[in-house]
Amino acid sequence: MALRFALVIEPVGSDDSRSDFADTFRTIDPSAPALSVGELSTQRGDGIFESIGVVDGHPQETQAHLERLAHSAEICDLPAPNLEQWRQAVTIAAGHAPQQGEGVIKLILSRGVEHGPAPTAWVTAAGAADNTAVREQGVRVVTLDRGYGIDTPASAPWLLLGAKTLSYAVNMAALREARRRGADDAIFVTSDGFVLEAPTASLIVRIDGRFVTPAPNGGILHGTTQLSLFSHLESEGFETGYATLPTTALRDADAAWLVSSVRLAAPITAIDDVVFRVDAGLTASMNRYLLSPRD
Ligand code: PLP
Repeated sequence: MALRFALVIEPVGSDDSRSDFADTFRTIDPSAPALSVGELSTQRGDGIFESIGVVDGHPQETQAHLERLAHSAEICDLPAPNLEQWRQAVTIAAGHAPQQGEGVIKLILSRGVEHGPAPTAWVTAAGAADNTAVREQGVRVVTLDRGYGIDTPASAPWLLLGAKTLSYAVNMAALREARRRGADDAIFVTSDGFVLEAPTASLIVRIDGRFVTPAPNGGILHGTTQLSLFSHLESEGFETGYATLPTTALRDADAAWLVSSVRLAAPITAIDDVVFRVDAGLTASMNRYLLSPRD
């Protein structure tokens, strides 16, 4: 969807305690060129981002997204973002997202221009695609080898595996491969046989009535939607938990979902050759919750 709004942020130190950061923001024309050709975000994908869902003008789970932005910055040795500054930028962007229906706010923090004085940062707002069909009819997924073992994130932190970096070319290639194999989406698995996440979503499976997601042990993102949904499911009396899930455990599941900030909960209809029945009532109630204002 076309961008409706873009705001350039002049990042300040995380200890800057001023109450109003308006002086550090500059609204720009979202359709006009804005980045320097020396930008490392474009040359090397060297930066981090967040996508926040917006419902009727309300940005969902802003705090969880800001905390993950800070976590990604730490992994990537980027200066710690000033969360209050970013929160104010999100509030301004939300005023330019659709005030009825769904939208998306993106936060981008790049290493900046090579040898430049500071990181580059900006926020955008746009309408979101209509995800009704995928929430109701679900997605067929295939497992794809991520090419590393379950212990790799700990032994090779320079792979930045737990950070939401701008380098999503691999994730997009996995989606293309999934489509080549006749599926809608993919689930990454480690080369030693453990379940990770989808290229743009977290995986939740239901096993013996318990909702389980792969533990965010450094190799995957800790999904803000999964976190929020687990607290909702717990308040409804369901049991939830994190686990190191071998791929064989997928056969013990009787339902599964891909969840993320904009698509919300998409029921899985098949993983490879294992077919899942869609729990339409539960999925609809999950999406009603995810579409309600959440902080
Ligand atoms: N995992 C990956 C790789 C993602 O890109 C995303 C979202 O884009 C998620 C998980 C889900 O995160 P969230 O629920 O915060 O959108």
